[in-house]
Amino acid sequence: MLTDNTMKSSDKKKKLLLINPFNSYQKDTIVDVNTISPPLGLGIVAALTPEDWEVEIIDENFDPFEYREADLVGFTALTSAVNRAYELASIYREEGIHTVLGGIHASMLPDESLQYVDSVVIGEAESVWQDLIRDFESNKLKKKYKGELLSLENLQVPRRDLFHQGYLQANMQTTRGCPMNCDFCTVHQFNGSRYRQRPVAEVLDEMETISHQRIFFVDDNIIGYSKKSTERAKQLFRGIIERGIKKDWVCQASLNFADDDELLSLAAQSGCRLVLIGVESEKASQLQETNKKLNLKMGTDSYQETFRKINEHGISVLGAFIFGLDTDSKEDLYNRADYILNSGIDAIQSTIVTPLPGTHLFDRLEKEGRLLYTNFPKDWERYYFMEPVHRPLLMSQQELKQDMDRIWERVYDAKLMQRKMLQTLKKTRNIKAAVWAYFANVERHNLCLTENVEPVDVEKMLAGLQLKTT
Ligand code: SF4
Repeated sequence: MLTDNTMKSSDKKKKLLLINPFNSYQKDTIVDVNTISPPLGLGIVAALTPEDWEVEIIDENFDPFEYREADLVGFTALTSAVNRAYELASIYREEGIHTVLGGIHASMLPDESLQYVDSVVIGEAESVWQDLIRDFESNKLKKKYKGELLSLENLQVPRRDLFHQGYLQANMQTTRGCPMNCDFCTVHQFNGSRYRQRPVAEVLDEMETISHQRIFFVDDNIIGYSKKSTERAKQLFRGIIERGIKKDWVCQASLNFADDDELLSLAAQSGCRLVLIGVESEKASQLQETNKKLNLKMGTDSYQETFRKINEHGISVLGAFIFGLDTDSKEDLYNRADYILNSGIDAIQSTIVTPLPGTHLFDRLEKEGRLLYTNFPKDWERYYFMEPVHRPLLMSQQELKQDMDRIWERVYDAKLMQRKMLQTLKKTRNIKAAVWAYFANVERHNLCLTENVEPVDVEKMLAGLQLKTT
C-alpha cells in the first residue's frame, strides 16, 4: 500500500523550466514594451509537453533571472542572446540538471551549442519535442534532435497563459518557409524553402482565442510568393471580417503587397494597421549583392508608389533598410538616409549588415577573413545589427559606425518622429496606423542611439487635434 509520502512523490509533476534569455550587452533593459512580442517557440514547446509536467517560463525581457528548481531546463535564443543562454545553462548543469537549447542559433551551430548545453533541438521542434521528453523520462536523452519540416495542419497552439502579462501584443504564425535565398537571411535554412501555410480556419480559430487587441503575425511574408498564396491571404483576411474578429494587426510582407487592391482593402478592413517591408536598399547594385530578387524584379522606381498605395488604404509602412554592404560607399549611406526621409515611409528600420551564422554572408566574410569579432560564443552578443562586426569594403569599421551614428541621429530625431506621425495620420487617416508607426520609430531610436527618447503623450497630442487613439 502507498503511504501518503510515497503517493506525493510519485504523483509530483516533473518541472520543465523554459527560459527566454536577454542580451544586455547593448542596453540593460528592454527598449519598449509597445513593440516586443512573446517567445512564441517556447509557448509551442510548452503546449507540446505532456500534461503530467508542470511548465514555467522565465522571460528575461521582463524579469531578471532568479534560480528556480526544475527537472529539465529549455532555452531558445537568437544569436545575440545565445551567450546569455549558455551562461544560464551552466548554472543548471553544475547542479546536474539537463539543459536543452533550441531556436535559430542552435540550429545553425549545434556543435557549438553542445559545448554549453546537454541537448539541442535543430530546426522546428514540433516533430521531436515529445520524443525528447520521453527520452528524458527514460533517462536516454540524445545530444541532437533534428526536427522535420512538417505540414502546418493542426499546428500546436502556444500556451499563451504562460507568457508574461506585460506583453502588450500577442503574436501568431500562419505560414513558414521562404523560396528566396537572400544573402543575409537564415529563414530558408531554418524553415525550409517551401512556403507552408496553415489552414485558414485553424488560424481564425486560434485568433479567436487571443485576448490581446493587437496581434503581430510573425510570418516572414504573409502573402507568400505566388498567386495562390496571395489568394490564401485574402481568404484569411475575409475570414477575419466574416467571423467578426475585431483585432488590430501588424504583419511582414514583400513589396508586392500593394499590387492587388482587393488584398490591400481586405487587409485594412480586417485590422491591418502596419506592414513591415524588407526594402533593404533603393539601389539595384545593393539588391543584387544581397540577392533580393523580388525587389529587383519590382524595380526600385516603383517603391514610392507602393508606399503611397498602402497608406491610401489606411496602413502605415515600416521600411527595413540595410547599411554597410560591400557595394556601399560613404555617399551611398547618406543617399539611403535621404531616400528614406523623402520616400514617405512612415517608420524606419535602419540596421548594419550583420553576418549571422548559417547565412551565405557569414560564410563569405569568414572565408575572406573579414569577421572582426570571433571570440565566440562571447562575441555573439555584438551580432545585434547596430554594431559593425565585419570589415566593410569601401570604408573602415570605425567610419561605418560614425556615419551610422550620424544617420541615426537624423532619421530618429525626436521632433521629426512626431512630425512623421502627423504626416502618417494625414496620409492614412488612421490613428492607430500613425501611432504604431511612431512607436516603431521610437523603439528604433532607443535601439540605435545611446540616449533614450521618451515617447510624447500621444493621447494629449491627439486631443489637441480633437482625436483619440481608441
Ligand atoms: S529576407 Fe525575406 S525574402 Fe529573403 S530569404 Fe529571408 S524571408 Fe525570404
